[in-house]
Amino acid sequence: MAETVELPSRLAILPFRNKVLLPGAIIRIRCTSHSSVTLVEQELWQKEEKGLIGILPVRDDAEGSSIGTMINPGAGSDSGERSLKFLVGTTDAQKSEAKDQQDLQWHTRGVAARALHLSRGVEKPSGRVTYVVVLEGLSRFNVQELGKRGPYSVARITSLEMTKAELEQVQQDPDFVALSRQFKTTAMELVSVLEQKQKTGGRTKVLLETVPIHKLADIFVASFEMSFEEQLSMLDSVDLKVRLSKATELVDRHLQSIRVAEKITQKVEGQLSKSQKEYLLRQQMRAIKEELGDNDDDEDDVAALERKMQAAGMPSNIWKHAQRELRRLKKMQPQQPGYNSSRVYLELLADLPWEKASEEHELDLKAAKERLDSDHYGLAKVKQRIIEYLAVRKLKPDARGPVLCFVGPPGVGKTSLASSIAAALGRKFVRLSLGGVKDEADIRGHRRTYIGSMPGRLIDGLKRVGVCNPVMLLDEIDKTGSDVRGDPASALLEVLDPEQNKSFNDHYLNVPYDLSKVVFVATANRVQPIPPPLLDRMELIELPGYTQEEKLKIAMRHLIPRVLDQHGLSSEFLKIPEGMVKNIIQRYTREAGVRSLERNLAALARAAAVMVAEHEQTLPLSKDVQKLTSPLLNGRMAEGGEVEMEVIPMGVNDHEIGGTFQSPSALVVDETMLEKILGPPRFDDSEAADRVASAGVSVGLVWTTFGGEVQFVEATSMVGKGEMHLTGQLGDVIKESAQLALTWVRARASDFKLALAGDMNVLDGRDIHIHFPAGAVPKDGPSAGVTLVTALVSLFSQKRVRADTAMTGEMTLRGLVLPVGGIKDKILAAHRYGIKRVILPQRNSKDLVEVPAAVLSSLEVILAKRMEDVLENAFEGGCPWRNNYSKL
Ligand code: ADP
Repeated sequence: MAETVELPSRLAILPFRNKVLLPGAIIRIRCTSHSSVTLVEQELWQKEEKGLIGILPVRDDAEGSSIGTMINPGAGSDSGERSLKFLVGTTDAQKSEAKDQQDLQWHTRGVAARALHLSRGVEKPSGRVTYVVVLEGLSRFNVQELGKRGPYSVARITSLEMTKAELEQVQQDPDFVALSRQFKTTAMELVSVLEQKQKTGGRTKVLLETVPIHKLADIFVASFEMSFEEQLSMLDSVDLKVRLSKATELVDRHLQSIRVAEKITQKVEGQLSKSQKEYLLRQQMRAIKEELGDNDDDEDDVAALERKMQAAGMPSNIWKHAQRELRRLKKMQPQQPGYNSSRVYLELLADLPWEKASEEHELDLKAAKERLDSDHYGLAKVKQRIIEYLAVRKLKPDARGPVLCFVGPPGVGKTSLASSIAAALGRKFVRLSLGGVKDEADIRGHRRTYIGSMPGRLIDGLKRVGVCNPVMLLDEIDKTGSDVRGDPASALLEVLDPEQNKSFNDHYLNVPYDLSKVVFVATANRVQPIPPPLLDRMELIELPGYTQEEKLKIAMRHLIPRVLDQHGLSSEFLKIPEGMVKNIIQRYTREAGVRSLERNLAALARAAAVMVAEHEQTLPLSKDVQKLTSPLLNGRMAEGGEVEMEVIPMGVNDHEIGGTFQSPSALVVDETMLEKILGPPRFDDSEAADRVASAGVSVGLVWTTFGGEVQFVEATSMVGKGEMHLTGQLGDVIKESAQLALTWVRARASDFKLALAGDMNVLDGRDIHIHFPAGAVPKDGPSAGVTLVTALVSLFSQKRVRADTAMTGEMTLRGLVLPVGGIKDKILAAHRYGIKRVILPQRNSKDLVEVPAAVLSSLEVILAKRMEDVLENAFEGGCPWRNNYSKL
């Protein structure tokens, strides 16, 4: 706010051409002329503390105003004839020295201003210095005498501000009070109108309440467009009452003009909606015409369809069939039933790629390998297998090799490997998602006799890619199931069988389509659900998931550059240090693949993109003289002043000016930023320890479609009838395992006279409840056998299981431990979880070769033959029964 300032007796004068700076207004100007640059340099730039300068309006005669008298609208009221005329250099003789100031009429009143912000620039290549100055008008002054200081003017001045005593006296004046009230009402009205229009009133209203009224009048008037004359008259209104009535008049006029403008807009809008209505009606009319068959375009449509069909290159028997259908269509009226379905069908025939193919160039194995390497980190064996596959194709392009099927949890790169194969072969890539397909018609289409019939996904996919030899990814082939609506697997079998797929039969298409040029690749999360005949056609390539170190490398080399690129960023803007990526891997994700890692990185990139975008809007200023705090209505900018002054539009607020001083250096992600964007960490290593803090809980390793997982098993007992309860969405096999575990423990318990913590007999009159947490996830399989027994033994002995140990294995009734599947995935999961020891069935030892050496070396693997071996290792200090055993 422009507080009252002591003015010095002399001020350097910056002339404003046909422009007035009123107290309270803020303006940004660019100084380029010699005199103004010198003035800014000497009076503002080189001074340590804030400098003051005077802004004096000058009338530039070149703009065509009448010469001679300086208009003074305030004349006759307070100011009398104080408006003088300073004509500098009007004679021809002086022309050369004072060309600039020729025909200039200097006003006698001006406004002292201070610089809020300064920036200096050097123009290239001329080397000319320019300044951008943000000025705030402070208070009026009167010019007593105008002189020169070097190239610019200085004036001896007297302040026109009232003293405090004078001000207090005026405030008593009943006229002044009435005028103030009137002004406030009008101003309030203007603010409300503006608020409705732009929703910016909040700040202005505060202004109305807090700023002294005599200053408010200036600020308000400064905020809207006005003629030079009106600005001058406002400047000349030194007397407060005059100023208030003048301001009321101007504000009111502005208000009226806004209202008029609004009325006009409303009228225009009314007209607009009328023409929109017409447009809508016309659209409806066209639709009605079409329905009635009045459409003359139809003839052309059919002709166009025929041309398209001719260009499609159908095999001759299909072409004949299509022509028959076309003849039928031509005989039909468009409104006849069947017309539309017939047309849609012919469109499909015309759109299908019967002979259009991606040109297959000579396969370059070296380039293919490079491509695989550049797209994917690690996976050496998988890449090798893909290269072999491609090599066979190169030697014998029509070789009927097996279909490659990538098996592994989500996010391990199955889809992207398949698309790399397409790229290496120079073919188009199309992905069919088979997840949840239960109906044969999804693969093979519905017959056209059905209403709403459609082709199956294969034909649809081919239509989408538009070539007959794409690489087609059958995604999630393990997720197809069969039910009453037929067996999608058998349809897939036909697709994948090189003998049969030459003439694939889609029910909708109803003519054979040759799929033999398509290269099929499949993906699955698990092998088990894939029907054996399908499995027979495929060669499985397993992708078990990544270790933390592999994930880190993948993130640094592949994911981060790609994510940055996708968000229009580069590492110049955003740096994600390795430590932070590790942090995300360990504390924000717990997955076999890298999908949620990628998602988290994308979240960081998004946040950074917002910051960068905001940053770009700010202007590169350099010297902060004083923070802008002055309120300003709509950031009014005065224009003009010196000859080469140019106004740069700006919205003045603290935030923007503040932002300009941050240098655009890279944003480096740190822990605080991680938490701010991704939220608090979701996982930590102490989880296992917390969960096995009480007896009756054991840590198992299971295998899910998402790869290996750590699965806790909780058991508890209470007074009851000796029953067992199981919860946690369990399948039949796992329920049986639980039964088996209980039986085994019971048998042992009576042998060893085991007791619960008290001396109560183990199971008499007690119910057992076993729960598998994460109750929403269905679980099944025999591999939880040893884990179940361990949980029960822990419960009965009231001894806690070791938190650093996880186990897996099936158990027989006699206590033998049998091998289970997914060992590699399970060990990777244990590693991810920070588990240090794993107990595995002895006969799984052969599977350990698949586990990356780095992971294996960080874990202790214990091989168990019998249940007793498991128990011995699961508890601190060995099996809790050993003592009982020795007592026997
Ligand atoms: P899937 O099909 O197995 O579910 P995707 O192929 O969709 O997984 O992979 C998810 C993301 O992770 C993709 O952006 C992929 O490029 C990336 N990705 C996975 N594995 C690797 C790897 N080894 N190297 C580089 N990027 C990888």
